[in-house]
Amino acid sequence: MSSYFSEHDCEPLASGQTPDHFLHFARLIATGGYWELVGLQYSDLFGEKPPPPTSKAVIESLKTSYIKEGEKGQCAVCLKAYEAAEECKHLPCTHYFHSSCVLPWLNKTNSCPMCRYEMKTDDTVYEEYRQRQKSEAGRKAQLSVLHESMFS
Ligand SMILES: [Zn+2]
Ligand SMILES: [Zn+2]
Repeated sequence: MSSYFSEHDCEPLASGQTPDHFLHFARLIATGGYWELVGLQYSDLFGEKPPPPTSKAVIESLKTSYIKEGEKGQCAVCLKAYEAAEECKHLPCTHYFHSSCVLPWLNKTNSCPMCRYEMKTDDTVYEEYRQRQKSEAGRKAQLSVLHESMFS
């Protein structure tokens, strides 16, 4: 399935082309929240395809700063020490990197290179899947709180 997406990566339908049934199936699963029901993981539908790029809007809203004279630290992407006046982008997790290092990274994937903090993407199927995973995690957390309150 990974080859499917690498060959057809988000191409709009050409005129005369039939809609893609696999994608419809994937959307149905994602929007209906049937992931657990059919025992599927994101990777089952999307193969080894890495998570989608960070949302353009998120990338545009990242705070920019410039390294100050004498500022310590190094960029975790290129592993070079910061030098005065270099431009950096700050991620919501508070990590920051050279703009020239982190921007190409965020155009490929949606997580912080340091801590894997995930940012929003522009991929609706992926977002629906993630939303679902989150509410499932929330439900489990609530259950364990309930369990604690009843049995302790
Ligand atoms: Zn760098
Ligand atoms: Zn981070």
